[in-house]
Amino acid sequence: MNDHRTASAGRTEAAEVHRFRERLGLPGLVDVHTHFMPERVLHKVWNYFDTNGPLTGGLEWPIAYRREEAERTALLREFGVLAFTAMLYPHKPGMAAWLNAWAADFARRTPDCLHTATLYPEPGVESYVREAVEAGARVFKAHVQVGAYDPADELLGPAWGLLADAGIPVVIHCGSGPAPGKHTGPEPIARVLARHPRLRLIVAHLGMPEYEDFLGLAERFEEVRLDTTMAFTDFTEEFMPFPRAALPRVAALGDRVLLGSDFPNIPYPYVHQLHALERLDLGEDWLRAVCHDNAARLFGL
Ligand SMILES: [Zn+2]
Repeated sequence: MNDHRTASAGRTEAAEVHRFRERLGLPGLVDVHTHFMPERVLHKVWNYFDTNGPLTGGLEWPIAYRREEAERTALLREFGVLAFTAMLYPHKPGMAAWLNAWAADFARRTPDCLHTATLYPEPGVESYVREAVEAGARVFKAHVQVGAYDPADELLGPAWGLLADAGIPVVIHCGSGPAPGKHTGPEPIARVLARHPRLRLIVAHLGMPEYEDFLGLAERFEEVRLDTTMAFTDFTEEFMPFPRAALPRVAALGDRVLLGSDFPNIPYPYVHQLHALERLDLGEDWLRAVCHDNAARLFGL
C-alpha cells in the first residue's frame, strides 16, 4: 500500500472510531493493552508472527499496523485513545531491567503512555521492580506464555507482594491462547492469588481460551480484572470462541473489564475490537465503563 493510501485508510478508520465514541458520548478511550518496545525487539516479534512461530498457534497473522513508532502513537491519538500502555516482556533472564529502562524513557517522551514495566523470575527481580515503582511505573506486564515461567515461582513472591501493596496493576498473559505454554492456565494464577489476594492482576485476552475459569477467579478475588484484548473479534471467535452462556458473567463484571486491543500486533483494523464489544449488546453503560471509565478510575486519569 502506498503512503497516500495508508494515510487515507487511517483517516477513514479514525472516523469510524470517532463515530463509536460519539454514540457513547465518551471523551476518549483508554487502552490497557498496546505494545511498544525497542524497535529491534518489536521487529523480532513481527518476524515471529510473519513466520507463524509456534506460540501464534500456527495462525495466519498479518500485522495491521507495521509502522514507525511515531506513526503508531499518532494513530492512537487520532483514534482518540487518551491513555495506553507499553506492554513489553522478557523471554529470558537478564532482560527485564533493560526493557524497564527503555519503557521509562518511552513514558517520559510519550506523556499519554502509562509508564509500564515488566519482570521475570530471577535473582534481583524484587529490587528492579522496586526501582521501577519508585521511578513512577503505573502498570506492569507479565507474559507467562512467552516467558515460560511459573507465575507462582518463589523468586517472584516478593515482587508480587510489593506490587500488591503498591496497588499497581499487572497485565498478565496467562491463558493458554493462542497456544498453551508449560505454565499457562488458571491453576498457577490461583496459587499466586492464594498468597497475594489483593494483587491487581488484569488477565489479558479475557483469559482465552479458559474464559470461564478466569472469570471465576475475578468473581472470587475483587482486585482481579480482565482485558478484552482480541476477545470477541471475528479472528478469535473462529478458533477460540467465547462461550455465549458465560456472557452474563462478563456483564456482571462490568466494572472490572478493561479495553485492550493488542495494537499494533493485530491482524484486523483497530475499530473491529470496538465493534466486537458493541455487538455483544451488553448496553451503553457497560461499553462506557469498559472502554474508558474503569481504566480511568483504576489509573486515576
Ligand atoms: Zn499482547
